[in-house]
Amino acid sequence: MLIGVISLFPEIFQPFIKYGIIQKSIKKKLLSIDFWNPRNYTNNKKYKVDSTIYGGGGGVILKAEPLIRSIEQAKLKIRNNIKLIYLSPQGRKIDTACINSLLCKNIILICGRYKGIDERIITNFVDEEISIGDYILSGGELPAMVLIDIIVRLIPGVLNNILSNSTDSFFNNGLLDCPNYTKPRVLNNFKGQVPKILLSGDHKKIQQWRLKQSLGATWLKRPDLLKKKKLTKEEKFLFNEFKTSYFKKN
Ligand code: SAM
Repeated sequence: MLIGVISLFPEIFQPFIKYGIIQKSIKKKLLSIDFWNPRNYTNNKKYKVDSTIYGGGGGVILKAEPLIRSIEQAKLKIRNNIKLIYLSPQGRKIDTACINSLLCKNIILICGRYKGIDERIITNFVDEEISIGDYILSGGELPAMVLIDIIVRLIPGVLNNILSNSTDSFFNNGLLDCPNYTKPRVLNNFKGQVPKILLSGDHKKIQQWRLKQSLGATWLKRPDLLKKKKLTKEEKFLFNEFKTSYFKKN
């Protein structure tokens, strides 16, 4: 997958692409990320890329021409199957369906700054505006990294162990992940014990326990997710067991 990023601050991405699965997927050639800085495509002698907003009021936005030239350059490198995305608080909020629709595409991401970008870029070039939530950040760089990270985890071959993805919250049949523990078995003076079942080696029982805990965690933390889900006979049974023991304890 090819990802092009248009940003005034490409340096911000450097630590991000040098670690973890992003670095690994670049090394494995499953992913390539390139950057275009609008400052390199301005005719302004002082490399200015922003200007005040017509109609007055405070603040500046990114000018259209340096962005258009950056888009053209990015399209020269990423030629096929491109989706152009503007990271914007006004966009569709990122969710699994939105990410799945991006997986078979190459993408160019425009990171806004200041009060945003000239509207004509959105009108003429942008295929989709994507938001990471109902709040305002100073720039599109963090949202772009969030989007890239989510996408990369879903590229086939990136994660070694497929289970590490399929049991994650939301991918886990629409449920949250269950509680997980690792060594040591006993943490002195701290609450909570490793449930005995996880040490039993009985895989069927462990799987049932995990499903029950996932149902319980979803019920307690994200009841909205549970409302959307049609439970199987086994899930209903385990969920009732969870609730009975929860009400006994609380
Ligand atoms: N005036 C703009 C508005 O209200 O729509 C917000 C501008 S914001 C200060 C600067 C840039 O940060 C935006 O152009 C966008 O690229 C990015 N940004 C801010 N919040 C975001 C969010 N929640 N999701 C995605 N991008 C965001």
